[in-house]
Amino acid sequence: MVARPATVPRAAWRRPSPRRVRALRERLRGLYGVPVMAPHEDPLAELVLTVLSQSTNDRNRDVAFLRLRERFGDWAAVRDAPVAEIEDAIRPGGLHVQKSRRIKAILEALPDDLDLAWMREAPVEEARAALCALPGVGRKTAACVLLFSYARRDVPVDTHVSRVGTRLGLLRPGAALDPELHDAMLALTPRGAELELHVNLLRHGRRTCHAQRPACRACALRRMCPGRQA
Ligand code: SF4
Repeated sequence: MVARPATVPRAAWRRPSPRRVRALRERLRGLYGVPVMAPHEDPLAELVLTVLSQSTNDRNRDVAFLRLRERFGDWAAVRDAPVAEIEDAIRPGGLHVQKSRRIKAILEALPDDLDLAWMREAPVEEARAALCALPGVGRKTAACVLLFSYARRDVPVDTHVSRVGTRLGLLRPGAALDPELHDAMLALTPRGAELELHVNLLRHGRRTCHAQRPACRACALRRMCPGRQA
């Protein structure tokens, strides 16, 4: 039988205090350090990469992305290509039929020059709203673009961050990913800690707090975790 951690009863959940967030951040930092990742200033590449990352691993995502870049050279050429050619280029990434249509629809919905550099300085809410208005783009993708491209204030909540954050009591059990979990994660994240909390919760989810078999006995956060397995 698959072991599962105890869930935090919904009625028992309370919004975490800044002190508790600080303590969890410190503990995670002790385990994984402070991630260093300079903003790459390529929001369009991040947008496409995030579409390609759906339901696959990082390696297959990267192979699909590189094939796309090699075959077409620039994003305008991807936009103008027949969808079958995009499909063929990204086939190793899985779900190539859906993803090729999504990528093309996004590129076609953008202004002709495909320039998103205005998002570097614009109010973050404005940039987020523009991204979320694109076909199939939700809060997680928008947050990836804003945070990784320009170090803007947003926090992507992926499957690892939402699972670990919920077990640790940071996020409300049963909350919808978009927008509640994203709004909640943003509200509890201290300014300047967006990348750190995202990356360290994700690392903890990959290394210890697994979806099916969380290693609670070996977990350094065990004493602080209301979702630990008995
Ligand atoms: S104790 Fe650690 S591994 Fe277990 S549920 Fe909590 S964070 Fe996850």
